Amino acid sequence: MEVLDVQPARPARVRPAAHLADLDAPGRRDAVRALGQPAFRADQLSRHYFGRLTDSPEDMTDLPVAARRELTDALLPTLLTGVTEQACDRGLTRKTLWQAPDGSRVESVLMRYPDRVTICVSSQAGCGMGCPFCATGQSGLTRNLSTGEIVTQIFNGARTLARGEMAGGPGRISNVVFMGMGEPLANYNNVLAAIRRMTDPVPDGLGISQRSVTVSTVGLVPAIGKLAREGLSVRLAVSLHAPDDELRDELVPVNRRWQVAEVLDAAWGYADATGRRVSIEYALIRDVNDQPWRADLLARLLRGRLAHVNLIPLNPTPGSRWTASDPAVAAEFEARLADRGIPVTVRDTRGREIDGACGQLAAAADRIAAGRPARGGRPND
Ligand code: SAH
Ligand code: SF4
Repeated sequence: MEVLDVQPARPARVRPAAHLADLDAPGRRDAVRALGQPAFRADQLSRHYFGRLTDSPEDMTDLPVAARRELTDALLPTLLTGVTEQACDRGLTRKTLWQAPDGSRVESVLMRYPDRVTICVSSQAGCGMGCPFCATGQSGLTRNLSTGEIVTQIFNGARTLARGEMAGGPGRISNVVFMGMGEPLANYNNVLAAIRRMTDPVPDGLGISQRSVTVSTVGLVPAIGKLAREGLSVRLAVSLHAPDDELRDELVPVNRRWQVAEVLDAAWGYADATGRRVSIEYALIRDVNDQPWRADLLARLLRGRLAHVNLIPLNPTPGSRWTASDPAVAAEFEARLADRGIPVTVRDTRGREIDGACGQLAAAADRIAAGRPARGGRPND
């Protein structure tokens, strides 16, 4: 592990600084005008940031020298500083721990495959949803990330790739998954603006396809409905983990507020509105949620729906009494779904090995983003 130079955390919490990536095109022009600069400088800055992936004033040779520093100081402040970086899989997977000036820390993971690069990003520092099997859930919510902080994770990943700093030579980000820290739909407005920034074409955004962005949610029903009405074509992943309310109340405490039937109804509403197949996340936990009858019940709930199941062997968190299902039990669970015509994927062992070093959630996330063919059903949409 390489430890990068980083400033000590400031004790007091401060609001994240305003950033170009927080703003839409009119907002960016207003911000530039407020600095006494002509509005077209906003487009020049955006071209540098979103298009050329630079935030250094020295690179902005089309801006007057006097204006460069002022514009970058005001609109392109450093929001996140790399603290540590871990690489595995011969450098094709890289996890970065970031720190904001207020001391909040989040992670993002870049994963490179022959045909694509996926970045797994955080939407919040911590998470308030309290799922007992999740490391992030144990520490509670610190705060929402700003739009700029979410986009910064992607910007940094895109720049690393563009500069050829990742094994495999220069490249581009093809997929984004909100499967790092936090519940994205609990930070709705900032996440939505970040989706717009990452998917708007250059120079207004990073030009990533909406279809290649996955929002993973614990099941916040009203927010799923709202997202369905945004006119986006991003993929939705729903973290179900149990087909029955009794167990889901325990594994996913927010189930006490929105139960399985309501969550799935919201998911089908999303599929209807967008035409996108919903991914149902199911972390297999030994002797907790991996019984054959639960596979059968899950199959009944999903039958005939635009859905596919993503089985994730549990990545045990320190101190937890839970562990991953026995491989034979996981295989049986998968087969029961597949036999009932439910498209299902399960991570391979190579993935598990990598996850041990690099963050289980990210690897699970990539399989969804990649849309790998599932057993038991149609090819992924
Ligand atoms: N809060 C969102 C997104 C972040 S978590 C959500 O819950 O969907 C991303 C995925 O990782 C979710 O499906 C989550 O349930 C799963 N996950 C969390 N901890 C895990 C663990 N220890 N092992 C396996 N999957 C886990
Ligand atoms: Fe939060 Fe998702 Fe972890 Fe649950 S699984 S605590 S919603 S990050």
